[in-house]
Amino acid sequence: MSFQIIANFRKPRKGILQEPNTILRTICTPVKEIDKSTKEIAKKLIDIMHEVDRPYKIWLGMAAPQIGCNQRIIAIKKSYHDYLIMVNPEIMEQKFLLPTITGCYSVSGLYLTNSHYYFKIKYLTLDGENKTEIFIGGSAVLLQQEIDHLNGKLICD
Ligand SMILES: [Zn+2]
Repeated sequence: MSFQIIANFRKPRKGILQEPNTILRTICTPVKEIDKSTKEIAKKLIDIMHEVDRPYKIWLGMAAPQIGCNQRIIAIKKSYHDYLIMVNPEIMEQKFLLPTITGCYSVSGLYLTNSHYYFKIKYLTLDGENKTEIFIGGSAVLLQQEIDHLNGKLICD
């Protein structure tokens, strides 16, 4: 449950799908094997993030369905022009559901929504390595949105 607090916050960007679009509403399939196509999707995500990234931006993330691929792959910004790719991210633990204001490259406007501020996430790196990591605060809010994308859920829902 969320509601819009500001309309027309963001102009649509080339290469990023916009609501309404059925791809953004589809539950993404897990990556069975990390291969050339997985790496291509990751590269495409990174290229698009690179374009919209600015040094002052703290929280930036993108999910594969936003660029038209229904696979469970997300990218989040670590630092300027440095992104972390997570394949098949899975929530192990979530805590602290609080109201937050969020925006999304696929949805116009800013929304007041509820988000978890603590996540323990299991994922695969592009090298096929298993990782478990804890995300707190803004990075957790960001991850909530990207994982929601993989389940066909948007901030305006
Ligand atoms: Zn988004």
